[in-house]
Amino acid sequence: YQPEDTRLYHFYSQEILDIFFRKVILETDLHYALDRNEFQLYYQPQVNAITGKVICVEALIRWKHPEYGMIPPAEFIPIAEESGFIIPLGEWILKTACTQIQTLQSVVNNLNIAVNISACQLKTANFSEKIMEIITETGIAPELLELELTETIFIQDIESVKQKLTALSNQGIKISIDDFGTGYSSFKYLQEFSFHNLKIERYFISNIDHFKNKQALVKSIIQTADNLKLNIIAEGVETKKELDWLINNNCEIVQGYFFSPPLSIEELKKFLSRNNS
Ligand code: C2E
Ligand code: CA
Ligand code: CA
Repeated sequence: YQPEDTRLYHFYSQEILDIFFRKVILETDLHYALDRNEFQLYYQPQVNAITGKVICVEALIRWKHPEYGMIPPAEFIPIAEESGFIIPLGEWILKTACTQIQTLQSVVNNLNIAVNISACQLKTANFSEKIMEIITETGIAPELLELELTETIFIQDIESVKQKLTALSNQGIKISIDDFGTGYSSFKYLQEFSFHNLKIERYFISNIDHFKNKQALVKSIIQTADNLKLNIIAEGVETKKELDWLINNNCEIVQGYFFSPPLSIEELKKFLSRNNS
């Protein structure tokens, strides 16, 4: 067998090799990146659509690789989860976010901080204790901290997850269910767990003003959240039309490029002074 165009054949195999090597390099470099200070947290505002005020910011990690430049979290978080590096990295994220949010309290009183938590972190035996330790160490009020968890937590030992989240809730920490509607979500779990916020995944919000099926779905999510006394947060709001639809359907808290992309801490300070004064 002779491939018709050997150049094409070489092109594809080289591309596959590049992807493979990139992953191997990233896997190795990830372990040095913390000590080399290559990570940075960016913050995206969550806005009350009625008052226009920022009530919370979500911490989103960035990795500036010395050779490859900015690596998106969607690429390196799964690698960190596979290798277990997500545990020390997750601790760094929590400590940094809790420390930095304190410096913003003088700009916006009671500004909350939302931190993404990987299911692997939640699985560790001392997860709740670790969080409480970080709260004590950084001096942040527990009521200001929100943990964003995706539906993948429901495939773990449910009882142990429930215990940990209840312990944290009892300390005043808020729990959000992230990317709602994309995974193992079940309305049953919403009832069983004491979540505070439910974040509707961006996919459902995108062009919602155009799509009747998305509208029906989001309406029923909002209705359920209302019944269970959960706050709804809409992710990925990009247009005025999406925003108007959400406001008309009683979704008050919104996040997305329409208001602001994720910002560095310096940019965020400026944004908040302009916006919340
Ligand atoms: P996520 O938690 O659903 O975060 C929202 C993502 O949507 C962010 O991407 C954000 O920049 C992006 N986004 C926000 N508004 C808009 C919009 O209006 N339009 C569009 N197209 N995108 C918008 P990012 O920062 O690349 O993060 C991707 C995912 O990586 C996150 O999804 C989260 O699952 C994970 N991630 C990010 N930071 C962390 C972290 O510190 N820890 C963990 N465990 N995961 C993280
Ligand atoms: Ca999130
Ligand atoms: Ca999402």
